[in-house]
Amino acid sequence: MTFDYDLFVIGAGSGGVRASRIASSFGAKVAVAEEYRVGGTCVIRGCVPKKLLVYASHFSEDFHLAEGFGWTVGETSFDWKKLIERKDAEIDRLNGLYINTLNGAGVEIINGRATVEDANTVRVGDKTYTAKKILVAVGGWPSMPDVPGIEHAISSNEALHLEEQPKRIVVVGGGYIAVEFAGIFAGMGSEVIQLYRGDQILRGFDDDLRERLAREMTGKGIDLRLGTNITEIEKTDDGVRLTLTDGSTLDADAVMYATGRVPKTEGLGLENAGVEMERGAVKVDAYSRTNVPSIFAVGDVTNRVQLTPVAIKEGHAFALTEFGGTEQAAEHDAIPSAVFSQPPIGTVGLSEAQAREKYGEIEVYTSDFKPMKHTLGGSDERAFTKMIVDKKTDVVVGAHMIGADAAEIIQGVGIAVKAGLTKAQFDATVAVHPSSAEEFVLMRNAKS
Ligand code: FAD
Repeated sequence: MTFDYDLFVIGAGSGGVRASRIASSFGAKVAVAEEYRVGGTCVIRGCVPKKLLVYASHFSEDFHLAEGFGWTVGETSFDWKKLIERKDAEIDRLNGLYINTLNGAGVEIINGRATVEDANTVRVGDKTYTAKKILVAVGGWPSMPDVPGIEHAISSNEALHLEEQPKRIVVVGGGYIAVEFAGIFAGMGSEVIQLYRGDQILRGFDDDLRERLAREMTGKGIDLRLGTNITEIEKTDDGVRLTLTDGSTLDADAVMYATGRVPKTEGLGLENAGVEMERGAVKVDAYSRTNVPSIFAVGDVTNRVQLTPVAIKEGHAFALTEFGGTEQAAEHDAIPSAVFSQPPIGTVGLSEAQAREKYGEIEVYTSDFKPMKHTLGGSDERAFTKMIVDKKTDVVVGAHMIGADAAEIIQGVGIAVKAGLTKAQFDATVAVHPSSAEEFVLMRNAKS
């Protein structure tokens, strides 16, 4: 049987773009369908715009720090509209680069929403296309809870495009997107209340980091309310009125939900091909194969680890295996990641609790210090590093940091953890001085 394409990719985001490009480089005839903008969540309404906003919001603290170092900082003001315009221009530029990359790689871009008709057929609008292999890379979408008045709330999608900076904003959720946006708005001078129904933010992260971030955020003026949720949202003349679980009400200009993301599989037609699902996500094996031999899936839609570099690695491994003649499974251990909170978090490997469960006997090393920049800068912000070691083998199984530059620092530490290096090998490494990163080779006393 002949097909229109060797590979039809649904979704031109992190995983889909990488898979298309690499498959095409091996000579495959590839098309990718995109319903919104090439680049996907990360580039268009995720990692990139968010990080630009984090940079923007940090200046308020930097101006203050500068004064501690002898600078006289004049009157400052912040223009939200200008920032959003400049951010959008950068996103347009990146979107153009991604389109050029696909064009240059010989991948055909088909604009529109794709649905699966059967194991080898995809529909976009009124056209159908056949393909030997189909890759589902449709990503995820914000999950909004079933609360009366939820239509008056925004998600991270809209938060990146608000016409005006909200003077008072309520952020709902305890995950990384919630704490990042709470920090963004607080840094820009908005009054921020963060509500989370659980007992501590950042579930799944190391407990020491969770507590310290909660403390730092509160110290920076964010009103963090744990064990609290919203039962109703009403529209008012100048924003929203929220009724909370304790019966009290709150008025705000906007309420943003960051309460998780769900795979974007609704209406995709995967059931037409008999693709097996697991709690809304496409079920795949280590090679991103579904139960249907011609259909594969990578990225957030598979609900493995919802991060861009993971989607990219999965897409690359898929293309190598299926079109490059090299079998490669996507690995999901020791993935370094960051939370661009203020201060940021960098983490790789297991938390203390996870390591204790897995290895039984562990050693925990910590360091709690005031970064040099803050001595003259006058900030109370502290940094904290933590290393978890399997006592039997001396292998470092987890490394965590909260403090300035944690994301930059953890990338290097991540190589060592992924390589399975021992604590003795960390200790044998010469420190970079003066730096915060040096703590990772200087921690000597295990916590009892
Ligand atoms: P996506 O990048 O979401 O791409 C899927 C694409 O498919 C989209 O372009 C979508 O429009 C398209 N599509 C969907 N359905 C169809 C259809 N039926 N037909 C055609 N096209 C379709 N990750 C990090 O690593 N670091 C971060 O700092 C980070 N920050 C984030 C901040 C926010 C606010 C958000 C929301 C996410 C963030 N992420 C971050 C997560 C990251 O964006 C995702 O893990 C990553 O984009 C997943 O890639 P993907 O290829 O699976 O899907």
